[in-house]
Amino acid sequence: MHFSSDRKISLIAIVFSLLLATGSFGQAPYLLNDSTIIHRLDSQIDVFIDSTNSVSLEQIIKPGFQKHFQRRGDLIFGYLKSSLWLKIKTKTISPGTRWYLEIPAPFLEYVDFYQLEGTQWYHSAAGYYRKHSVKEVSHTGHVLPLQFNTDSISTVYIQITGSSPKTFPILVIEKEKFHEQVRWEDVGYGIFFGILLVMFFYNFFIYLSLNQSNYLLYICTIVCTFLIFSSASGYGGKFLWPEHPVLNFYAGRLSLSAITIFLPIFTIRFLEVKNYSKVMYYVLLSLLPLAVLASLLIITGTLSSAGNNLISLSTLVYMTTGIVCRIKGNKTANYFIAAWTIYLVGGLLLTLRNSGVFDFNFWTTHFVEIGAIMETVIIAFALGDRYRKLRKEKEEAQHVALLLQQDATEKLEMKVKERTEQLSMANHELNATLETNRLQTNIIEKKNAELDAFFYRISHDLKGPVSTSLGLSFLARKEIKDELALEYIIKQQHLSERLNHIITGLINLTKLSHTDLKKEKIDFNKLIDECIDSSRSLTHFNEITFTKEIQSDIEFYSEWTLLNAIIQNLIENSIKYCGPVTPFVKVTVQLASDWVMIDVEDNGQGIPSEHQSKIFEMFYRATQNASGTGLGLYILKRSVDRLKGTIEMKSKFGSGSTFTVKLPSMID
Ligand code: ADP
Repeated sequence: MHFSSDRKISLIAIVFSLLLATGSFGQAPYLLNDSTIIHRLDSQIDVFIDSTNSVSLEQIIKPGFQKHFQRRGDLIFGYLKSSLWLKIKTKTISPGTRWYLEIPAPFLEYVDFYQLEGTQWYHSAAGYYRKHSVKEVSHTGHVLPLQFNTDSISTVYIQITGSSPKTFPILVIEKEKFHEQVRWEDVGYGIFFGILLVMFFYNFFIYLSLNQSNYLLYICTIVCTFLIFSSASGYGGKFLWPEHPVLNFYAGRLSLSAITIFLPIFTIRFLEVKNYSKVMYYVLLSLLPLAVLASLLIITGTLSSAGNNLISLSTLVYMTTGIVCRIKGNKTANYFIAAWTIYLVGGLLLTLRNSGVFDFNFWTTHFVEIGAIMETVIIAFALGDRYRKLRKEKEEAQHVALLLQQDATEKLEMKVKERTEQLSMANHELNATLETNRLQTNIIEKKNAELDAFFYRISHDLKGPVSTSLGLSFLARKEIKDELALEYIIKQQHLSERLNHIITGLINLTKLSHTDLKKEKIDFNKLIDECIDSSRSLTHFNEITFTKEIQSDIEFYSEWTLLNAIIQNLIENSIKYCGPVTPFVKVTVQLASDWVMIDVEDNGQGIPSEHQSKIFEMFYRATQNASGTGLGLYILKRSVDRLKGTIEMKSKFGSGSTFTVKLPSMID
């Protein structure tokens, strides 16, 4: 067994030790007679409270000092600031048995064991703020293997210093039993930290799937809980940071403040506190600056218990918040209250134990840990419950959406079917109508052809007698001298001429549908000049000023005879219906993309608006001022149609008219 030798103290007064060993050391030693049980020695211990914090071992072991040691019957000192000296004397009945002295209170900051071996005092260090490598037995609590002298008596002084609460038991356990107990403790804490780990991952995966910061906050509280308990239980010091005991101070205490940052926010969200109580909402928020302040006090060392005070206060705030929210109808608060009640009871038990009201036992030590685990699990399940609800709501919403979609699809399908049926019916009807139209068109075409043929035959049959009648009238005019008879003959000649005009018009009309179209390049200059020239015989011709504006480089192909007839007719009408003052006729030809536009403008009589829509009808005349048959514009329109063009007219009665013909160039 190794003893640290640096503190090995060689005593000047060996005499004192001899005196101690021979029973003048006060009370009789505690008899360790049963190795199967745990011996609790609290009542068998002599205590000296060193309020000066300056008494040394040399002074302590002096026989004269022994009177300062007193047997109190317990080791409940609460938040005692002074250092404590304990004197323990035990006797074993079987020298072969190895006994361990244990103080199962990890939080005791500095524990120094002094053990008498023969005539020498050996020092062994332990304590919350001591490295594990300097400890004789690395454990969460503070352990000293007892050494018995030849008289089977072990004498130990323990000095306990530091500001942590000084309430603890002192146990003596047989070595194997001690290790067995350690194993059970390890298992217990293994389960404890294991559950925290499971809860960590459980919430972590929910967080990953929901991406709600609430779960992240809760994960942070789990991490803090882990740090608080791993440092408080001594397991952090034993396994995680054995050579950095300073972390025992910071990990635990800073986590206490850190958790007071996460938990109020989590509570606000978890219980939707703002909706239930504005006051509690602000009280919870006020914990945040307090947590920051507590952290500063801890770091600067101003008030190392700031974290503990804050957690006591905030636990009450959480509890009150839970109750207020529950009263106001928040059912989730049930979970919350249950979780915090257990935690609160555990915390209360611990505080009462530390201050000496309750004994140091399993429940006062571990209930807070059980509370922490239950709180973590209950809240995690509440969160899980919420997750399930959310998922259910989502699934239901998806289901409803699916049903709606199905319904919409069905309706759409029905509509499509209905419309398709309607369409097919309409199509059917259309086809029938088309068929009827086709038949009607055939009939009309046939009838038109018959009519054309009839017109043609009649016109040709009439042409001969009318020409003869004209010839006879001409001859008769030369022979007849009687004025009245001459007048009649002249009238008859005029009528025959008119009849001849009509017949010529009708013959031209019938020719329109029957002749094949022959295309040729049109020279508009030449064509228009010829048209003007062949109108010379018309009355008023000489009074009229003719103008033409023809766009150069027009490449246009059309049926010459029809085009000639169209332009001729328009020019003739402009002359025929010219006005009395400076009459003019202006012909303009220009190209507009694939079309040629021919305008024939005059400043003549114009057409009254009520006649304008009818002038293209057969035999329609809008005036009796000049002679005419009412066939000209009708034939012209038919000719324009034949050339696949259009004709428009703008006219103002008394001011003049403009006829616009648009024709496409003929292609093969
Ligand atoms: P008509 O043999 O009477 O000239 P048209 O078919 O050529 O027959 O013309 C129909 C009617 O349109 C004419 O009676 C006339 O009133 C009117 N009209 C045609 N061209 C002109 C024009 N340039 N100015 C005034 N009126 C016109």
